[in-house]
Amino acid sequence: MAVERTLSIIKPDATRRNLTGKINAVFEDAGLRIVAQKRVQLTEAQAGAFYAVHKERPFYGELVSFMISGPVVLQVLEAENAVAKHRDVMGATNPKDAAPGTVRAEFAESIEANSVHGSDSLENAVNEIRFFFAETEIVG
Ligand code: ADP
Ligand code: MG
Repeated sequence: MAVERTLSIIKPDATRRNLTGKINAVFEDAGLRIVAQKRVQLTEAQAGAFYAVHKERPFYGELVSFMISGPVVLQVLEAENAVAKHRDVMGATNPKDAAPGTVRAEFAESIEANSVHGSDSLENAVNEIRFFFAETEIVG
């Protein structure tokens, strides 16, 4: 195992309900270090480009609208095995399938408004971090 970095997004349903601190506590309790963090309002172009991999899926348009419906918190998380560790504590995409204690089981509203994003591979993590952060903004 090696020290990895992964991209996390606290989504608009969670920032709207003032859950940033509670979600950060789940990450930190799991040993994930928040080495960069900024709260931003995404533009439609940014959200569309970030989720371009889902362009052909039926929910793409709604997903982009949801992601710009309010502020998000963009984060870089660092830990041994960070990508898998983060996915574990996020829980399954659909909160109905998410294990108890995971962020999505505790906080998600629906399969779309599911409170958090996490990179799904180390390769995607590198690209997603680069999409939102300059290297100088990440302080390990
Ligand atoms: P994950 O975020 O768990 O990696 P995906 O990459 O498959 O899941 O999907 C990206 C995001 O698109 C999800 O987190 C969720 O917000 C939304 N989404 C996924 N599946 C659906 C669906 N069937 N209906 C509506 N939104 C969805
Ligand atoms: Mg995904």
